[in-house]
Amino acid sequence: MTAPKSSSPAASTSPKAASPRADHAPAAVTAATAFDVERVRQDFPILHQTVHGKPLVYLDNAATTQKPRAVIDATSRFYERDNSNIHRGLHALSERATASYEGVREKLRRFIGAELPSEIVFTRGTTEGINLVAQSLGRAMVGVGDEVVISTMEHHSNIVPWQMLCEEKGAVLKIVPINDAGELLFDEYERMLGPRTKLVSIVHLSNSLGTINPVKRMAEAAHAHGAAVVVDGAQAIAHLPVDVRDLGVDFYAFSAHKMYGPTGTGVLYGRQARLEAMPPYQGGGDMISSVSFAKTTYNKVPHKFEAGTPNIAGVIGLGAAVDYLSAMDRAAASAHERALMARATEVLGAVPGVRLIGTAREKSSVVAFELAGVHPHDVGSILDQEGIAVRAGHHCTQPLMARYQVPATTRVSPAFYNTFTEIDAVGRGLHRVIEMFR
Ligand code: PMP
Repeated sequence: MTAPKSSSPAASTSPKAASPRADHAPAAVTAATAFDVERVRQDFPILHQTVHGKPLVYLDNAATTQKPRAVIDATSRFYERDNSNIHRGLHALSERATASYEGVREKLRRFIGAELPSEIVFTRGTTEGINLVAQSLGRAMVGVGDEVVISTMEHHSNIVPWQMLCEEKGAVLKIVPINDAGELLFDEYERMLGPRTKLVSIVHLSNSLGTINPVKRMAEAAHAHGAAVVVDGAQAIAHLPVDVRDLGVDFYAFSAHKMYGPTGTGVLYGRQARLEAMPPYQGGGDMISSVSFAKTTYNKVPHKFEAGTPNIAGVIGLGAAVDYLSAMDRAAASAHERALMARATEVLGAVPGVRLIGTAREKSSVVAFELAGVHPHDVGSILDQEGIAVRAGHHCTQPLMARYQVPATTRVSPAFYNTFTEIDAVGRGLHRVIEMFR
């Protein structure tokens, strides 16, 4: 089996269906990837539409992924049948909603190899997960002259919360450098660690370069100095098998919307002992055990970190996304994604004037480039006219753009539902850009 069974034929619900695309992979690639992409595409209604009169080619998956019918249905089914607040009511709807919501915690525990469901904290997304650690653990453990280590390739959401913390505490933010290929300099990283290092926070898979960082080795080195390790898993969660215990990290943050689930929902994994020792992040309903004006006591983990009514429908949609991914042959899906990336690297790299940004040996799912003499925004706009959605900008990694001395790049980020034909369409689109600009 290569994909879960489609819940309903996409064509019946999608806007204007575009004709199916033949997918002519090179023979070697076809052999390596026994993945029925046309079958999988049927699960994603949004893909079957035209944009500017052309079949949509959606290659902006690092920004957000599209949602399978199963996720869309689970979310609307919740509103149609079970909608109620959780953990509060004694009535049937509330019990159903609570059971579904809490059931997703267990699904996620299994999905990322956590030990306990209580190690899964629901958040708004990666950004909130990192802020939670910075504001809770960070404020409690970082003092004047202490050090927090991040890298040159971090997303703003893994830079700014640490800058805020270091500014408040008089601590030092240290930045691990990278080489021109976009790989972390591991020796430099090890040299940066010391008795003052309290936290290391590293992206697992870079959204701008595609680099996969050696998180397990980095965590071992950080732990040898007693530092806590936070991983920004926003991109990795959709493309790599993630086992938090094997990685040996203390925290792992990710967003549902980048793994085929809804927006506004995410997960912070935290080791139980760490979470228990941390003060709450936000105060409000559900995070307390009892409240009086004299003294408030807090709920147990993970509820201590989930103040207020959460995004219940979003969490249920995330559960459906986990089910969808778990039912899929993920090894075959990854092989297909790797083949798409190889094709994109070859096709785009061959376009005159293209400089690829991010050529790490260990990389996945992102091919970013600059095209000599053409601003990425122009590249993006012209490709849009061809029905092709890519991202042009700094990708919330301005310090990384400065490292490469570019204001922005154009980023093609495939997912398993993309085809070789679509990648080739980007190549043709770039030739059109060149014709228009030269
Ligand atoms: N880190 C990385 C590597 C990302 O790609 C993103 C999203 N672009 C984020 C963090 C932030 O994710 P969110 O906006 O869903 O919180």
